[in-house]
Amino acid sequence: MRIDLHTHSRASDGTQSPTELVHAAVAAGLDVLALTDHDSAEGWAEAASAADASGLRLVRGMEISTRHQGQGVHLLAYLPDATYPPLAAELERVLEGRRSRVPGMLAALRAAGVDLTEDDVDRVSGHSAASGRPHVADAMVAVGVVADRTEAFERWLSPGRPGYVDRYAAPLRETIRLVTEAGGVSVVAHAWGRRSDERPDAEAFAELAGLGLAGIEVDHQDHTPSARERLRAIARDLDLVVTGSSDHHGLGKVDHDLGCHTTAPEELERLLDLAAAASAASGRETPDVV
Ligand SMILES: [Zn+2]
Ligand SMILES: [Zn+2]
Repeated sequence: MRIDLHTHSRASDGTQSPTELVHAAVAAGLDVLALTDHDSAEGWAEAASAADASGLRLVRGMEISTRHQGQGVHLLAYLPDATYPPLAAELERVLEGRRSRVPGMLAALRAAGVDLTEDDVDRVSGHSAASGRPHVADAMVAVGVVADRTEAFERWLSPGRPGYVDRYAAPLRETIRLVTEAGGVSVVAHAWGRRSDERPDAEAFAELAGLGLAGIEVDHQDHTPSARERLRAIARDLDLVVTGSSDHHGLGKVDHDLGCHTTAPEELERLLDLAAAASAASGRETPDVV
């Protein structure tokens, strides 16, 4: 059983439609796929019907941009009722922050001598609900300013670079609570990412676990083997679920092929049980896993 619990479609910044993503997952030999677009459930319906037709199990999820102790933390939310009004309102705030960020970035880039228009961005994003930095990066590639997304981020769009603009992120503690209230479960994505400071640390994870955090994404391309080992130990100590995933973005991110990291079946079962418990406690219906 091969399980990949973190992927993106064109409903955020992936390059495949939800249907194409599901077909690619089947071709990659996956049995279970989670669709986790940024701050959006927009791709769920299409992915569910494609999964239904192809025998793949789909776990509906999303990756929420949050902030904790001054740093950005991506929070994977699995099986929340996305129509739960307080969660929907928070997602809308994040998306609005992302939308208003693009004009801000274009102005900053223009001031730095890179002339890019909103039309250039719309052309590569397909007017995505979650248009943001990756789409600006793609537009820079399309007009030939940079060779690829990586160069766009490193030279222009990362914090401290000329095209960087800050934006709203949901408070992490509050978001964990909202996801639970919505009948879902939350997992910190690529917890230590490419950062070297190893935050959140064990103590912070203990506090988050007390607030309802269900798991840590340990096996991810952005983690070194030693970071994985230490995160796995933290998860074990706190009885948190351990996940592994590709963070696939279609052609939008190299070296993140579907199934390059996977989640053990018993860890998925724990997540599903926790989601069922959250759903029973909140009265919010957990979306089916088809
Ligand atoms: Zn992420
Ligand atoms: Zn992601």
